[in-house]
Amino acid sequence: MIVPRLIERKRDGHALDPAELRELVLAYAEGQVPDYQIASLLMAVYFRGLDRAEMNALTSAMLESGKRLDLSRLALPRIDKHSTGGVGDKVSIVLAPLIASLGVAVPMMSGRGLGHTGGTVDKLESIPGFRTALSLAEAEQQLRKIGCAMLSQTSEIVPADRKLYALRDATATVEVIPLIASSIMSKKIAESLTGLVLDIKRGSGAFLPKLDDELALAAAMIDLGGQHDVPVVALLTAMDRPLGWACGNALEIAECVEILTGGGPADLLEVILALGAEMLQLAAVCSTQAAAREMMRDAIASGKALSKLEEIIVAQGGDNRILRDLSRMPQARHRGTFEAKRDGVVQQVEPRAVGYGVIALGGGRRNMEDEIDPSVGFVLTAKPGDKVVKGQPLATIYARSASDLSAGASALEQAIVIGDTSAEPLPLVSHRVTVKGVEVIA
Ligand code: URA
Repeated sequence: MIVPRLIERKRDGHALDPAELRELVLAYAEGQVPDYQIASLLMAVYFRGLDRAEMNALTSAMLESGKRLDLSRLALPRIDKHSTGGVGDKVSIVLAPLIASLGVAVPMMSGRGLGHTGGTVDKLESIPGFRTALSLAEAEQQLRKIGCAMLSQTSEIVPADRKLYALRDATATVEVIPLIASSIMSKKIAESLTGLVLDIKRGSGAFLPKLDDELALAAAMIDLGGQHDVPVVALLTAMDRPLGWACGNALEIAECVEILTGGGPADLLEVILALGAEMLQLAAVCSTQAAAREMMRDAIASGKALSKLEEIIVAQGGDNRILRDLSRMPQARHRGTFEAKRDGVVQQVEPRAVGYGVIALGGGRRNMEDEIDPSVGFVLTAKPGDKVVKGQPLATIYARSASDLSAGASALEQAIVIGDTSAEPLPLVSHRVTVKGVEVIA
């Protein structure tokens, strides 16, 4: 294998030989190929793409670079949900215990906040004592015992992706459909799943804001799953406004507890039920949307789903008393109300501005090594389409200092647009994509 020749081939628009690509990825993972050569190849891929055989070879090689969860002794179906990332997206924290409470194993490996989006791992770690850095052996044991583990990516799983992702982040080569698809799917396949549900975000707050790109990403991931015997179903859901009300780590955990105790925002509950219904059908626990929704509503109403969350919190060292007393969660020292400056209709609640606002308050990272403050963020009370009057509260800001309150208010001034005409937000769940094709839902 002569690396410059491979780079040249991709640069000139030709396909790489799958065996050579595999050899290159494994050699890179072992430190035998320098970053500068791989960075150059990644940029060639950014412009030229990868065909189906190349994408599969890359995914397989990344998988081969590490270990997989060994769940062979687990008799249950094993289903995960993965979101492409958004603002206020705390779906996983409700869905994992909810689905696990219905007899499906949920090995949920999640990430930290990326760009303007929040991360499930950061949200979970706002629960005092909660540990997400489980080893594979710990995750396997917990899955056997309680049917669910919520962990961060371990160094044992797909180390080649870890290295490649860091390099992509540093070389502006993240936003490439075949690289995103193989990066996500290699990690999901390593979870030894029997099915995967994808939540592909649409709209201005999504990483890929164009519908064609989102559908292409869904198709690429469904195809990769099929080649590794993991059936995949994708739903396209709205990220042209934040999901739910709370945006900020501890505030989002509180909202998850509200949902699991029968309250919470309607849009968040609807996305949870839509994705959960796909998970339960993939697991063959039920065969219709209606039956799945009824099971999930019952699990919430009976407290079964909340008890499963409690088991997970206890198993992972967290303080389960937060479930009955949310004042035990980290509390921001300063609170302020953000009010409407005029009468009118809320036309936009721009998720990127809200997400960057959470980062400005200290609730997200500007650099990977930054410490985050789990207590800060926003609880929004306005959605696109709402009629408002001047002086009406649109959000509460949770901050570390009075000056941070002003920074939060500036972010909301940019994010929340009030006009005279009504808004047309994207449908909450717009498309369903399976191996059979695309179904337009709304
Ligand atoms: N998340 C991943 O894990 N990989 C990507 O390439 C993009 C988002």
